[in-house]
Amino acid sequence: MTAYETLNHYIDGQWVQPTSGKSQEVMNPAKNTPLATLGYASRPDLDKAIKAAEKGFATWRKVSSFERSGILRKAANLVRERADDIARVLTMEQGKILAEAKMEVLSGADVIDWFAEEGRRAYGRIIPARADGVRNMIIQEPIGVTAGFAPWNFPVTQAVRKIAAALAAGCSIILKCPEETPGSPIGLVRCFHDAGVPAGVLNLVYGVPAEISEYLIPHPSIRKISFTGSVPVGKHLASMAGLHMKRATMELGGHAPVMIFDDVDTDAVATLTSGLKYRNAGQVCISPTRFFVHEKAYDKFVGKFIDLAKGIKVGDGLEADSKMGALANPRRVNAMQSIIADVQEKGGKVATGGSRIGNQGNFFEPTVVTDVPKNARILSEEPFGPVAVMIRFKDTDEMLKEANSLPFGLASYAFTHDAKTATKLADNIDAGMLTINHQGLALPEMPFGGIKDSGYGHEGGAEGLQVYMVQKIVSQLG
Ligand code: NAD
Repeated sequence: MTAYETLNHYIDGQWVQPTSGKSQEVMNPAKNTPLATLGYASRPDLDKAIKAAEKGFATWRKVSSFERSGILRKAANLVRERADDIARVLTMEQGKILAEAKMEVLSGADVIDWFAEEGRRAYGRIIPARADGVRNMIIQEPIGVTAGFAPWNFPVTQAVRKIAAALAAGCSIILKCPEETPGSPIGLVRCFHDAGVPAGVLNLVYGVPAEISEYLIPHPSIRKISFTGSVPVGKHLASMAGLHMKRATMELGGHAPVMIFDDVDTDAVATLTSGLKYRNAGQVCISPTRFFVHEKAYDKFVGKFIDLAKGIKVGDGLEADSKMGALANPRRVNAMQSIIADVQEKGGKVATGGSRIGNQGNFFEPTVVTDVPKNARILSEEPFGPVAVMIRFKDTDEMLKEANSLPFGLASYAFTHDAKTATKLADNIDAGMLTINHQGLALPEMPFGGIKDSGYGHEGGAEGLQVYMVQKIVSQLG
């Protein structure tokens, strides 16, 4: 049986203990028992990481993209070989069920493979010149030393998207991973180390998030930042990046609408979307949340969805029969209790669930709420937990207006077999991503990103590499 990780930072190719003297306990959310102690980085530790990343960038940018690709592919294979161990650590610290943790780790390997290949296709351009003998070129270059900030809901996926894109582009990176789930990112980074990524190219630190971001973002050596997390923190970091003229990618929150029409197999759609809703106990930025169901399909769809929610076995993610694990931290349990209390106070109905389970571990029931009045917080606040809101609609334009009424615009889902309706939704939904009649989001080759308050820039796809590159224009005579 895998033991929990040894918690070190990774700076300049070495596994080291940080020097601040400050630390926190890492908890198992299924048991509320401590797993290990995580030390915090001090300013001198961060300075070491910056120096290492400067040196790493100087080395790595000169390594051919062909060779970089080989090293990255080796790392991807190591991630696959070690997937069982990394996944176990991930479940212990984050709470999600083991099957999901394993899927997350394996999909991380696919992300590395994608960027390993895409880095070899960082083509420039030749622009026809006005004069004979002149060559106008656009050369793609790595942007430089980068800083990434990854959250606790997908400790491997969110880290690997930043690492793989930066390294494929020829950049170095200092990554601050989540203090609540530090073990699985360490297992991931070890794969890059063992695959032969040179010292300094990849650095991993933990500490007080605000202290680290406020030091790294303005630092003259850092050329780009990437953050995944909440909207308020994202806005704060983006403003700091703007002030210091740093490029930024912001993957922030959402409140995904799911638009279900009456021409679909409601049982099949309920089965698919309840699987998506309760995955990772709803702590997913693209989690389907506001279910707009056509009035003719409403009773059948909602009835089936409630039955499915009731049938989900909630338990420790390490137990084989658990289908939904614990919430990652007690803050999420409090947030769920508060948002459900608000629904009830305002006259909404809790059709199933709505309560914490037991008093040990952060377990919460798979929940469905209906008849929710417009002023309930859940209709405008991202729940980030196992709660689905059912909303009846009749008119497509009215429904679209409501779906688009929030400041968020990340993922959206639609189910209809009517081509005209599908096109109308694609043309009119205010979201960075729309998937119709299946789940087609968050694959390595697909750009992933939002609009409005959900952020800007993409991770994944060709766009995910571009954000780590700058374009140099060279016009040459002779
Ligand atoms: P939070 O806003 O305190 O933190 C969110 C993330 O940002 C955490 O990973 C945290 O370590 C990091 N962070 C916080 N302050 C920071 C700073 N000054 N500099 C750098 N990083 C900083 O909230 P939380 O309680 O951890 O999470 C709850 C909310 O965060 C959820 O409601 C959800 O909206 C959002 N969230 C979104 C994602 C996502 O995938 N987009 C992931 C995790 C959390």
